[in-house]
Amino acid sequence: MSVFRPAIDRIDGYVPGEQPQDTGWVKLNTNENPYPPSPKVVQAIQAACTDRLNLYPDPLGLSFRKSAAELFNLDHEWILPANGSDENLTIITRSFADAGDLVAYPYPSYILYETLADIQGAQHERLLLNADWSWNFERVRPIVERAKVIFVPNPNSPSGNRWSNDDILKLVPPRGVLVLDEAYGDFADQPHRAEILQTELGKRIIITRTFSKSYSLAGIRFGFSIAHPDLIQGMRKVKDSYNCDRLSLAAATAAIQDQAWMQFNTERIRVTRRRMTAELRKFGFNCVDSQSNFVWTTHPAKTHKGVYEALKARKILVRYMKFPGAIGGIDGLMDGLRITVGTDPECDQLLQTLAEVLPSCD
Ligand SMILES: *Cc1c(COP(=O)(O)O)cnc(C)c1O
Repeated sequence: MSVFRPAIDRIDGYVPGEQPQDTGWVKLNTNENPYPPSPKVVQAIQAACTDRLNLYPDPLGLSFRKSAAELFNLDHEWILPANGSDENLTIITRSFADAGDLVAYPYPSYILYETLADIQGAQHERLLLNADWSWNFERVRPIVERAKVIFVPNPNSPSGNRWSNDDILKLVPPRGVLVLDEAYGDFADQPHRAEILQTELGKRIIITRTFSKSYSLAGIRFGFSIAHPDLIQGMRKVKDSYNCDRLSLAAATAAIQDQAWMQFNTERIRVTRRRMTAELRKFGFNCVDSQSNFVWTTHPAKTHKGVYEALKARKILVRYMKFPGAIGGIDGLMDGLRITVGTDPECDQLLQTLAEVLPSCD
């Protein structure tokens, strides 16, 4: 007999990408930034180490919120810090989705949304994307109309494409909130800073951001939500009192104040992304034009699992992903490889290894 809630017994739990703890890997599987964080971040953490670690941190993270608000040209009451953006998503699910309410998200996209809904005891439904990753609004409208929370990563993962604001505004549920998960927002060609919140429907949109990707701080665990103060105030009731610690608050504040460092690195990644996409196409891969720090790729003549394994045998990790029931799949299954954009030498090593192993992949 299980002592767990049935909702917990029913699920497998979200399984993150492989995180090998030994060195020597070319790690292109979980969309980390290959470049280090700003030296100012390291200094800020060092200073925080000798600054009253015996005391609780600021529960609302005011210094960070002021810096973030300045960047987005908003008042700091629009900002809620979180212990990684996954915590944003947890706070949002717990704030807006009651047991039995409907949570929806595009499919294929980030599967964690489904797990969070399951843990909450909410219903969930997939908004099926077209095979070219565009929306069929006719098809999804009945679900959008019933949903309490809709999660939409933009740029999307695993595809890397970015939908227009016109598309996004059609997905705001009439009796709920739309969560725009902008984990990869800083990698898009066109800079954008929450302008969509200023629209009529913007009062029911929450944007989430993370420091794990563009700011090179996956090891720190820090993210934040941006939304109308009415929404932020309610979400505060749901978060842990001290959800962000002194070290991560110091790190994130220094990181967001050093925009030049983040932009230098994201621009390098955009340049490598274009080159990697062009070179993969020469091998016969189909690639989605990415607005993110990874490329979604399929090959018409190779098994994706086989390519993943051949690369892994050569200590190159990419993400093999499969999406049962997705439109555009063969025999009901869509799968492919999501490859993170690394440094230029890492990209060269990937391409060189593909040239060697691809002919013997089936
Ligand atoms: C990486 C990622 C997150 C979460 O990032 P954290 O590391 O928890 O801050 C959220 N959504 C998407 C789509 C992501 O790729």
